[in-house]
Amino acid sequence: MQYEEQRCPICGKENHCGVVEGQKTCWCMTEKFPEGIIKAISKEPKKCICQNCLHTYKEI
Ligand SMILES: [Zn+2]
Ligand SMILES: [Zn+2]
Repeated sequence: MQYEEQRCPICGKENHCGVVEGQKTCWCMTEKFPEGIIKAISKEPKKCICQNCLHTYKEI
């Protein structure tokens, strides 16, 4: 178990990424991420952000 990968790189909370949990798909694969958020996580591309952060980002 690599707990580091289960953390959202933006808020540091659990991201519930399906890939990290051993599934082949994840909600993040079907979601459209705004360009700004992709840049924000580009340092840690393997990590999934959490849905909370995505919603927050979309509302800005
Ligand atoms: Zn987050
Ligand atoms: Zn994911």
